[in-house]
Amino acid sequence: MKYILSIDQGTTSSRAILFDNESNVIFKAQMEVKCYFPNDGWVEQNPNDIYISVLNVINECLVNANITYSDIDSIGITNQRETTIIWNKKTGVPIYNAIVWQSRQSLDLCNKWEKYKDSVHEKTGLLINPYFSASKIRFILDNVKDAQKMAENGELCFGTVDTWLMYKLSEGKIFKTDVTNASRTMLFNIKTLTWDEELLEFFNIPKGILPTVHPSSYYFGNATILNKDLKIMAVAGDQQASLFGQNCFSIGESKNTYGTGCFMLMNIGKEIKYSKNGLLTTIARQINDEVYYALEGSVFIGGAAVQWLRDELNIINNAKESEEHAYQSKEDNVYFVPAFVGLGAPYWDNECRGSFFGLTRSTNKNDIIRAVLNSIDLQVKDIIKTMEKDTSLKLKILKVDGGATDNNYLMQYQADILNVKLMLPNCLETTALGVAYLSGLASGYYKSIEEIKNIHKYKKVFYPNMNAQKRKEIDQKWKKAIKITREFK
Ligand code: ADP
Repeated sequence: MKYILSIDQGTTSSRAILFDNESNVIFKAQMEVKCYFPNDGWVEQNPNDIYISVLNVINECLVNANITYSDIDSIGITNQRETTIIWNKKTGVPIYNAIVWQSRQSLDLCNKWEKYKDSVHEKTGLLINPYFSASKIRFILDNVKDAQKMAENGELCFGTVDTWLMYKLSEGKIFKTDVTNASRTMLFNIKTLTWDEELLEFFNIPKGILPTVHPSSYYFGNATILNKDLKIMAVAGDQQASLFGQNCFSIGESKNTYGTGCFMLMNIGKEIKYSKNGLLTTIARQINDEVYYALEGSVFIGGAAVQWLRDELNIINNAKESEEHAYQSKEDNVYFVPAFVGLGAPYWDNECRGSFFGLTRSTNKNDIIRAVLNSIDLQVKDIIKTMEKDTSLKLKILKVDGGATDNNYLMQYQADILNVKLMLPNCLETTALGVAYLSGLASGYYKSIEEIKNIHKYKKVFYPNMNAQKRKEIDQKWKKAIKITREFK
């Protein structure tokens, strides 16, 4: 039997995961990647560290699984999105650190670009923000000596992490990316599926530094540094890979990841739809000529609120304990708004801060913990309701993943307040699994999406169990809590 090797290059670590043809994890290797913080709000990584960590985890995976390259059908790469690397075309040496997606060093530049915001939204589905690659590219070209001139002379290459890894793994032969990664650069037109000439002109970015763009499930070339016959057959940004790994193949299907923050994506089908409430439109995947789009929204403080209970309030020893405390609470009238850094979609309020409501003399720590868990679900609900409004689609099932899905209380309350079924997959490595599926579809390892649906397994299903009246009451109280939180400034 052959295996598919997924490389999952994330912000904190690189992972290599080996899957068999029933999507079982055969082996998993992980290695941390160091971040540098050269200035307030700046986050950078060494591109060579990223590449070396990937080589290491691949080797660890193969050695421990006791297989050779000839046992591997194909490789899929999924990666932290938007992170920007520029290197010298001739030498393959980066001219600056990788600027990580979270980094804010190009904020001033973005403020100057506000005048382009309507154009940017229409063409790319994004909002002008330092997260996306365009302003990071501009930052490097402005700050590294002679970089703009070299870029204009065609002596530099720009890539997101997928492009960088393929370039290194192919000894400089592959200079490509896929549509999902391209759609996060703020330079890619998601309608025409080409680099947008007008945006390149606005931002003065020479087209010659950009890689060619391809479907996500596609033969990109061979990772010759490992083995001359080893084929890279899929590339996708992490959130899009996870949407595919969660089997959200059709319009309306959605997934939410409960990690430090929450990342929610809804498959909106083959037509572009724009949000009127600050959500992003992005490319979900391309297989052959078929492109699917997604709407994306995020909750800033998800599991981070549970870390706050542990590290600042010291009322739990670990995240897992929060479940038991929440079940012990007899009080459901306490509300918490975790606006530690303001509120994201659909409120977009940077100024407001967190607050508790409904405390009494008998409120105890169980009630506080329960209210904190509820607040994660209530924020997710707000995003979903916004997506439904923006798209006129109705969520029927929510696929879930991420560390905090381990919490049964959190999952059940989510099902209850949404009144939808939640499905937790057997394999929680949905990101890696997504590119394994995409890779297998390109190589013929999987014959069709139908075949994938048949092998994809679920561990648990949470069914809604709350009456409509109660749901309405919770919704009204939450809205009131948000309103008052926003007034208190
Ligand atoms: P990330 O990928 O963002 O680092 P993970 O998917 O590893 O996040 O999930 C970790 C987050 O989930 C942490 O913020 C942690 O507080 C939260 N978390 C983990 N387990 C639980 C749990 N059983 N109950 C509630 N929150 C949890």
